[in-house]
Amino acid sequence: MVRPATIPITELEHAAFCKPEDQLPAKSLAEEMAVNVRWQSIPSDYLHLSAEELDQRIHQARQRLGSSVTVLGHHYQREEVIKYADFQGDSFLLSKEAANQTEADYIVFCGVHFMAETACILCAPHQKVILPNITAGCSMADMAPMEDVDDAWDDLQEVLGNDGGIAPITYMNSIAGIKALCGRNGGAVCTSSNATAVVEWAFQNSQRVLFLPDQHLGRNTGIKLGISPNDMVVWNPFKPLGGNTSQQLRDAKMVLWQGHCAVHTRFNVSQIRAARERYPDVTVLVHPECTMETVQAADMNGSTEVIRKAINEAAPGTVWAVGTEISLVNRLALNNPDKTVFCLDPVTCPCSTMYRIHPAYLLWVLDGLAEGQVINQITVPEQIREDSKIALNRMLALR
Ligand code: SF4
Repeated sequence: MVRPATIPITELEHAAFCKPEDQLPAKSLAEEMAVNVRWQSIPSDYLHLSAEELDQRIHQARQRLGSSVTVLGHHYQREEVIKYADFQGDSFLLSKEAANQTEADYIVFCGVHFMAETACILCAPHQKVILPNITAGCSMADMAPMEDVDDAWDDLQEVLGNDGGIAPITYMNSIAGIKALCGRNGGAVCTSSNATAVVEWAFQNSQRVLFLPDQHLGRNTGIKLGISPNDMVVWNPFKPLGGNTSQQLRDAKMVLWQGHCAVHTRFNVSQIRAARERYPDVTVLVHPECTMETVQAADMNGSTEVIRKAINEAAPGTVWAVGTEISLVNRLALNNPDKTVFCLDPVTCPCSTMYRIHPAYLLWVLDGLAEGQVINQITVPEQIREDSKIALNRMLALR
């Protein structure tokens, strides 16, 4: 089926929070709402609270709630939010943490929507997962809506047959319905740390892999496994057969969904060149959601956890140019004052959906819980939960 091309709203909103570095610290929510993106409505008494008032009230709410609540914070969250997290990590580590925290009845996930969904799939049945601001989505996940993926999967079955011709592998950064599709069809979930192992596993049982939704992570992973970019095709959901002929699909080893991360595709080869000119001894370390050209021009690439470990364990005096989300890069620079750590992109552009978790939203949902009201609970229908768990467990078995 063909539908008119549309750009996800979260992608259009991406540049909204690009600003000079000294203006990154949080302002009151009312001031931040001047930025023209979608915000969830919140009672007006939360809009004008100062950083000190928010801090004091969040601590009070947490004291009242005790161990009934666990707050999880993704590494890309701003400093003013992540300081309240009981656990910090990437999406996968945090989901595992959610599953371990069985004592807590409520898991407040300071991250984005697909992460809260994954926590909901992995956590115990009695636990409720809460996303402080419901508009905190992910532009990459939005590029693979269920309807388009179902259509693509049907088309691929028709062209390639359903006899093990293609295995669906989805990056963690996708909606639960896609994880479920992978679970039902012999596929699996992967993260940026284990994508190579998961794709390698998929090729043991299948001639081809459909990789969703990030074409760059898919391409970079295929290259690591020795697959030529010439043996990969991109699936454009707005064109019949994704813009390919049946023969091109039959010849391909990897079919890459046409999705990308608005944050990581900002990094480019000219920025790497400029960093090398400025610091001849620099090590350039980028995330594999960056384009193939950027990854190939860098010295190293790896997941958020790989980036953190490499810099935290590096020798004093070393210089690091990093291609990942600015909140994490700034935190690494702060925690490693004996090294020079800076973001490859001179323009400061935090992930605009992560950035929508303002401390006022965190306070609002905590206050709600203290009053017995669950605000912004994320749920996943039972069948999707079960099928997604199969895909997640296949990944876990490979670790
Ligand atoms: S950094 Fe990219 S992939 Fe991660 S939440 Fe933001 S838009 Fe999505």
